Amino acid sequence: MSNNVNHAIAFVSQLPIVEQESWQKQLSQLLPNENIVLAGQLTNEQKQQCIIAIVANPDPQELMQFSHLLWCQSLWAGVDALVSAFSPKIAQGALINKGMGDDVINFKISRLIDPRLAQTMSEAVLTWTLYLHREMHHYQQQQSKVVWRQLEYKLARERTVGILGMGELGKVSALRLKANGFTVLGWSRNEKQIEGISCLSGEKGLKALARQSNIIVCLLPLTTETQHLINQMFLQELPHKACIINFARGGIINNDDLLYFLKNEQFSHAVLDVFDHEPLALTSEFWHHPQITVLPHISAPTDRYTATTIVADNINHYRQTGHFPPCIDLVKGY
Ligand code: NAP
Repeated sequence: MSNNVNHAIAFVSQLPIVEQESWQKQLSQLLPNENIVLAGQLTNEQKQQCIIAIVANPDPQELMQFSHLLWCQSLWAGVDALVSAFSPKIAQGALINKGMGDDVINFKISRLIDPRLAQTMSEAVLTWTLYLHREMHHYQQQQSKVVWRQLEYKLARERTVGILGMGELGKVSALRLKANGFTVLGWSRNEKQIEGISCLSGEKGLKALARQSNIIVCLLPLTTETQHLINQMFLQELPHKACIINFARGGIINNDDLLYFLKNEQFSHAVLDVFDHEPLALTSEFWHHPQITVLPHISAPTDRYTATTIVADNINHYRQTGHFPPCIDLVKGY
């Protein structure tokens, strides 16, 4: 299906220009027959000819300048910002007004699906689950108060870890926790069949998972359905002194509800890697909260080598077959 005149592939990003150039260089080495150009260096005419864009935290307005785009490949796994910018109406080919007349924006979005990323995330999930399981959060607080007190030891299997989101990252994390002796529950839209892991779905499943989980790990995408899913109703179902790890997106937790439950000591500790606004504001009370561990969005960074290799394979496959990789369902939001 290869057409001989492959027009430029746009690299659309708000990363610092040095980083953009570095990604462009690496992608160009893997795709010697393609002309990958930073969006800012394309003329308006060239932008109209682009059918493929590679994106890394792009400005949605800038992407809208590419009126003939068919496919947008993200270098990141999470594409919630893009999805929320391009509403289902736009995806279905509705008319939008860009101020230069009406244009149809109708392109597919694929995100990074990378087994290496899933391994990195599962390592982070295991690390922080062990931290909470071995009471490090309590020992850290005890040290700050000069307290010598040995807490009761529990076996890993006596801790139930509930994973919200059993997709690419959740499933690998669940299996790693299981292999390390934890009792694991998983929750997703469609119920999974995974040996050794009790998989749940739906509202009832969510409640059942909350009631049994000593540690909650959030690996859901941020969508209109998952926004503030971790709220008062969810938190009140958790066992006494439960903990939470959020490695997905800040918007999935209702912060006021979280702070309320921490204050009332029904809830023990939160490990947060993601926030509504990043970097986290210097004035945020999270920084100094003794029951919150703040991480600067580091649980699973994109691996440059595997990410560019996967994106290059996707582009080669498209040139050869005309088929896109699996794409986001803009109605579901992920
Ligand atoms: P994924 O493969 O799309 O998996 C998403 C999972 O969530 C699926 O199991 C899906 O259910 C479930 N889900 C979505 N909406 C749901 C709903 N309304 N009710 C119940 N279940 C729902 O995504 P992924 O690759 O695992 O990534 C998950 C998220 O991790 C990303 O969206 C991103 O925000 C975050 N992330 C964070 C970092 C970091 O460094 N902190 C790095 C990478 C990714 P089904 O399987 O039934 O569809």
